[in-house]
Amino acid sequence: MKDTTRHPCFNKEAAGSCGRVHLPVAPRCNIQCNYCNRKYDCVNESRPGVSSAVLKPFQAAEYMDRVLERDVRITVAGIAGPGDPFANAPEVLETMRLLKERHPDLIFCLSSNGLNVPPYLDEIAALGVSHVTITINAVDPAIGARIYSWVKDGNVVYRGEQGAGILLERQLAAVRGLKERGVMVKVNTIIIPGVNEDHIPEVSRVAAELGADIQNLIPLKPSQDTLFADLPEPGHETVVPLRKAAGEFLAQMTHCKRCRADAVGLLAEDRSGELCGTLQACSKLRPLTVEQRRPYVAVASREGLLVNQHLGEAARFQIWGLGDGGFRMLEERTAPQPGCGPKRWERLAATLKDCRAVLASAMGEQPRKFLEESGLEAHVCSGFIRDALQTLYSGGDMDVYRSRKVGIGGSCCAGTGLGCG
Ligand code: SF4
Ligand code: SF4
Repeated sequence: MKDTTRHPCFNKEAAGSCGRVHLPVAPRCNIQCNYCNRKYDCVNESRPGVSSAVLKPFQAAEYMDRVLERDVRITVAGIAGPGDPFANAPEVLETMRLLKERHPDLIFCLSSNGLNVPPYLDEIAALGVSHVTITINAVDPAIGARIYSWVKDGNVVYRGEQGAGILLERQLAAVRGLKERGVMVKVNTIIIPGVNEDHIPEVSRVAAELGADIQNLIPLKPSQDTLFADLPEPGHETVVPLRKAAGEFLAQMTHCKRCRADAVGLLAEDRSGELCGTLQACSKLRPLTVEQRRPYVAVASREGLLVNQHLGEAARFQIWGLGDGGFRMLEERTAPQPGCGPKRWERLAATLKDCRAVLASAMGEQPRKFLEESGLEAHVCSGFIRDALQTLYSGGDMDVYRSRKVGIGGSCCAGTGLGCG
């Protein structure tokens, strides 16, 4: 069970010892806030929407590994841009899937404008995302229309109150849906002088009614080349009384650092400058080929010369690979115990996760399908191991090794996980 109290933004007590990393996998946005400019990148500039690189999901997973090697205090993997996570939903969900596989104990966190969250509520919960931030700047479309230039829903762009109204409806549905699924919800609200200042306690009231857990009032940081570039940045004299008024409805976050979309480290000790080289190196990585990810082949063999054992019969698998001197048997791995149904094949797939194929003299339809869905080629064959490997590694036709006596799922192999005998 994850310890969700280790999120430094939702729990101030954790901020001194637990850090977060923002994975910049979401370049596009589906709305235009009048305070946002994502054009500029400067490692000295600290504000959302800014990132030194954009990563693909596999690059983000690699970057996460490297960050954790450098800073063991990281407890949270978040996605906060540089655009909106749900304007890039396939990439964001794939990143979360990879992280869940590699680092199941991390806390997963997403930060969105909410427009496209409702269709993904179930997936968010299923991936174990425990913390989500929705930025709600207004709960009145007339005020929202002054904050958002446009809102793009599917292929249609809406402006004015119509756009702000659509956005608001989705934001409210997002908060409600997330709370129904047990996700912690923070509502971010940007304090925009002369635009939504007086309206903020009403935002807090509505968010509290929907069950939001905490609110983060963030003073506007005017950005160059935006409609709000000339507005003043609200100071303590504005922020403190607003937090007091909003706090009547909802607990307030008071330690936000207005982080970049590629922030990393403790909130008070950002290391994004230091890790900028690592981030940029990861953004240039190429995806690994199957040959690199899965260099080996597993063989069911009695003596190490022939492929001559049924998949379910094999107590051990020989792991073969290609080295300088040709094909070699590198090691033997114990097969999972028979008798536990599909779990057995799940365990076998995990045991052979660095193998591209498994060779056996027979196998049931159920294990064959299961192993293939797990990314392993499953070949029924007989004959010399080295010959079969030669054909497999050179991309030849493996059907020539298919046993004439016992075909896939032959009469003696039901593929139930109980063994072939
Ligand atoms: Fe910028 Fe975020 Fe607004 Fe999109 S939702 S325009 S990325 S601040
Ligand atoms: Fe936490 Fe604020 Fe930084 Fe987001 S911007 S990670 S809420 S400190």
